[in-house]
Amino acid sequence: MKPTPIEKFQYLVHLRATNVHLFYRLLEQNIKELTPLIYTPTVGEACLRWHEIFTQPEGMYLSYSDRGNLRQILDNWPHQVEITVLTDGSRILGLGDLGVNGMGIPVGKLALYTACAGIRPEATLPLTLDLGTNNKTLREDPLYMGSRRPKVTPEEEREFLDELMAALTDKWPSIVIQFEDFKNPFPALERYQNTYTMFNDDVQGTGAVIVGGFINAVKASGVPAKDHRAIFLGAGSAGVGVAKQIVEYFIKEGLTEEEARRKFWFVDSNGLVTLDRGDKLAEHKVYFARNDNNGRQYQSLARLIDFVQPTILMGLSTIGGAFNRDILTRMAALNERPIIFPLSNPSSKSECTFEEAVRHTDGRCLFASGSPFPAMEHDGKLLTPGQGNNMYVFPGIGLGAIISQATSVTQDMIYASAESLSTSLNKQEVADGWLYPDIRRIREVSVIVTRGVIRAAQKNGVDRATELRELSDAQLDAYIRERMYDPFQEKDNLSREFGQPLTSASA
Ligand code: NAP
Ligand code: MN
Repeated sequence: MKPTPIEKFQYLVHLRATNVHLFYRLLEQNIKELTPLIYTPTVGEACLRWHEIFTQPEGMYLSYSDRGNLRQILDNWPHQVEITVLTDGSRILGLGDLGVNGMGIPVGKLALYTACAGIRPEATLPLTLDLGTNNKTLREDPLYMGSRRPKVTPEEEREFLDELMAALTDKWPSIVIQFEDFKNPFPALERYQNTYTMFNDDVQGTGAVIVGGFINAVKASGVPAKDHRAIFLGAGSAGVGVAKQIVEYFIKEGLTEEEARRKFWFVDSNGLVTLDRGDKLAEHKVYFARNDNNGRQYQSLARLIDFVQPTILMGLSTIGGAFNRDILTRMAALNERPIIFPLSNPSSKSECTFEEAVRHTDGRCLFASGSPFPAMEHDGKLLTPGQGNNMYVFPGIGLGAIISQATSVTQDMIYASAESLSTSLNKQEVADGWLYPDIRRIREVSVIVTRGVIRAAQKNGVDRATELRELSDAQLDAYIRERMYDPFQEKDNLSREFGQPLTSASA
């Protein structure tokens, strides 16, 4: 009876507030259908309209004026927290600065932690920092609930975060802190990742999930790791971040770092990224910049493909349709199984659709995209596109860090999530040529990812739950499953305002 996604969203919010276990039973059994309603894309609309649709508080808001007292304020939270998702609302999805309306993100993401990895709902803390907003329309809206001031300066934000990170960790010594949708996540990640148990899913989770699918694509291509060459269209933070994790994979496959680094050709809005291009390269582009172009000028993606003869084409350019028929046909001519990953979001910005990739490569491409595309028939076979959805990894990274009581989230733990994900496909999924497992098996996948993350924490010696080192893999899996919240094992406990419980607790 709720015809629009936002009404469905509100219905689900209400259900969670009144019968949390029923909400999670419903979510677990319909994960594929409900995720778009509690997270992207619907959560985007909910954040845009948060000040209009707000009915009850969820999570904790901390204001800039609370600085100096953060540790004390945390004492108001009534639960023992294992994980928090933290945003300042400054870059919500692709929607820009939404101030405290960004609360939809921590709430929705933590619901996925619970549904996918079984972190208990009351052990999750959605946290939104009200540090002002540069969104003037919102600031002047009478219904806006945040402080009506422009965003604080980066220095003020850093001081606030310094205090907050210390306060959170003092209050809950093994808390996992996940940063989400900050406009400029890099300084925070570098500043805190060795001192606190924190990670940034936009940067690290994204890289890991793409590498997870990429490992399976390389295996399926039949081409040994050392013979791959990759062209990346787009050299932004996402493109370079993904490539750096692929370098790690190539190194694990026996290449030297130098050999691995030379396998990448990046194209940005000024053409091939080279050291002699005559412009000042952004810092993050230097690592992959070429110096072997011998003065040759970049002409087009097509000409670069002819020159490089890539096995891999990655799109993180935000240029919809950039992998056109001509480009895809060239990739198909060069490779038996070309690896084509158009990763820009949303679908309108995807460098190509699944259908285009299949059609112009005679169905031979190994494909994963950032946005969802429908499965399709080709030559009488049903082909299913891979989607590099962060949901495959962040729940396991979080649960792995919680269970191992890691003192930090190391790069090895992030990489382990990718590698574990790549091993999580069942026989049927492998036989059908999938690069990612069926999202409906997410709890099983999360067990495997969690185990990988714990093992990496142990290898790095950042685990405080050292007794888990003695467990075999099978024992550790059993321990993880045992530890997971299972809404089907919980008795419903309806809040009093909404009348008598429907099911009476057994004596
Ligand atoms: P970004 O920082 O804006 O980077 C975009 C890059 O594309 C820049 O290097 C830009 O060049 C380049 N570019 C722009 N126009 C171009 C053109 N005509 N030809 C070639 N290159 C061009 O964005 P980002 O954060 O890296 O994200 C990029 C895309 O990846 C987004 O669409 C995002 O949705 C997607 N993404 C997907 C996932 C996922 O699949 N899970 C995760 C993260 C991001 P300049 O450097 O010269 O400006
Ligand atoms: Mn995000």
